[in-house]
Amino acid sequence: MCGIVGSIGKNNTNEIVLDGLKELEYRGYDSAGIAFIDQGGIPNFFKQVGGVNNLVALLNINNKTPKANLSIGHTRWATHGEPSITNAHPQSNEAGTIFVVHNGIIENYKEIKQRLEKFGYHFKSETDTETIPNLIDYNLRKSKNFEDAFRLSLNELQGAFAIAVINAKEPNKLYAAKLGSPLVLGIAKTNYILASDPIALLKYTKEVIYLKDHEMVIVEKDKYSISNFLKLSSVTRKS
Ligand code: GLU
Repeated sequence: MCGIVGSIGKNNTNEIVLDGLKELEYRGYDSAGIAFIDQGGIPNFFKQVGGVNNLVALLNINNKTPKANLSIGHTRWATHGEPSITNAHPQSNEAGTIFVVHNGIIENYKEIKQRLEKFGYHFKSETDTETIPNLIDYNLRKSKNFEDAFRLSLNELQGAFAIAVINAKEPNKLYAAKLGSPLVLGIAKTNYILASDPIALLKYTKEVIYLKDHEMVIVEKDKYSISNFLKLSSVTRKS
């Protein structure tokens, strides 16, 4: 199963994501992890084996949660690769610029991995998930921007997924998509919150959009746009 949470906005997104992960622990407790853009604009990640409290202990140095305005988090029920820090999410590309949390199974991950290895990509984990940030990285070479590379990559993935993605080069955007696995977007006063289950965001809002299969969403601080990743045209809904 696995639980994913992501947030962008004015209030500390690390706190919002940790709150959400605690609610999603029923979906997996093999490991937990978080990636965020820190106040200096630098990407950071923390991963720990076991439940969310282990991650909180690792992250909250001096009992304080570091501040961020863009974060994604994960609580894992392992399907590919043993429970370990290396296999914990977020998974990233080699350069550490694209971070992905994933719920589901990428059925064609072996083919994608073999193809990327031929182009010089190296993989550290045993997860199917690690192919996603590397595939986006590869597709960036032939795309005009990250959005195009993201869309192109989604069209290559087979299986089931709900993913949330941070591109460190765009600290004001949170990317997400779904096919087969659940994903909701909550609209709170100060923040947008993505999660596998609305229970993860009830503390912050009751206004929730259920994303449909084949939908991708790009969330910014004060707007979001949802589109079908199979098509090129996008329908923008703003709050
Ligand atoms: N397939 C991913 C992994 O094993 C996600 C697991 C899941 O959603 O259950 O890391």
